[in-house]
Amino acid sequence: MTEQLIDTFGRRVDYVRLSVTDRCDFRCVYCMSEDMTFLPRSEVLTLEEIGLVARAFTELGVKKLRLTGGEPLVRRDITRLVSHIGQLPGLNDFAMTTNGASLRKLAPELVAGGLQRLNISLDSLDAELFRQLTRTGNLDKVIDGIRAARDAGFQRIKLNAVILKGRNDNEVLPLVEFAIAEGLDISFIEEMPLGDVSDHCRSETYCSSDDVKERIESRYRLTESAETTPGPSRYFSLENSPTRIGFISPHSHNFCGTCNRVRVTVEGRLLLCLGNEHSVDLRAVLRSYPGNIERLKQAILNAMPLKPERHHFTTDGDVQVVRFMNMTGG
Ligand code: SAM
Ligand code: SF4
Repeated sequence: MTEQLIDTFGRRVDYVRLSVTDRCDFRCVYCMSEDMTFLPRSEVLTLEEIGLVARAFTELGVKKLRLTGGEPLVRRDITRLVSHIGQLPGLNDFAMTTNGASLRKLAPELVAGGLQRLNISLDSLDAELFRQLTRTGNLDKVIDGIRAARDAGFQRIKLNAVILKGRNDNEVLPLVEFAIAEGLDISFIEEMPLGDVSDHCRSETYCSSDDVKERIESRYRLTESAETTPGPSRYFSLENSPTRIGFISPHSHNFCGTCNRVRVTVEGRLLLCLGNEHSVDLRAVLRSYPGNIERLKQAILNAMPLKPERHHFTTDGDVQVVRFMNMTGG
């Protein structure tokens, strides 16, 4: 029988998110501060090390893997890593979260490498507002990237939108309309208190999923989907459209009881919970025993008892975890 990752609370971990870089070509106001210092290269896992981590997890029964960052598509030779992971036996869901800006160039190679699904972040359809929220992003490029991904063969692309009250809450309905017109799914995310972002006070911009849902229901009828995932998302279907609407609600709907996931930062820190600092240094194992997958698997198995029962995010505006989202791997 293959080994399995089971924590102290009986939760089976079969989903891992790997961050492949802390860098990004955007500086989204909820994710990064304007001046960021990035990790020196020596502290970042090599593509070979990340590939070995991915293989270790699949050999421990992980079936679902997502590449994220930072912006995964700014990592040099990312398509080589995608092709490596795309061949790993046992993986039945291989996905990436991206800001979409490089998809015109890279989408065909990602499909050829075996990447199956994409989540693309899009918080506004107003070019000026998009620029303000991302600080450096270009809306046209992202929309072109979304279409390039669809043309390259990605099915069921999902948009992710973080909604901040007073900033982009008026974008909720336009984003839903865009998703319907383009044949995409869309999830709305509550902002999480990761890192001190300096741009705004999070307690003032907090916008609950219920508020977002109410806005959507002013125009559309939503029916809760029977499909449940062991994660933070709840899905709804729309009348007369295949578009699904999701809500990711770390504040208003605690999802820890069914949490099936762990994360690995680009420094090789295995994070057992998004909202806590419990972690294990896999880079130390990788560099003390280069290429030794059994050591790596043992370190991952030994980490399972550290997975905490739940996070304790609040909406009072305090920073509860000092790590920024780009370091965490959202
Ligand atoms: N760069 C890629 C992107 O933006 O899609 C992948 C990494 S990004 C950190 C992953 C997701 O986390 C994005 O959808 C982003 O909107 C979301 N995110 C970043 N900071 C967040 C925060 N403080 N709270 C909630 N979501 C956040
Ligand atoms: Fe970059 Fe993604 Fe963070 Fe925006 S959310 S700054 S695109 S890593």
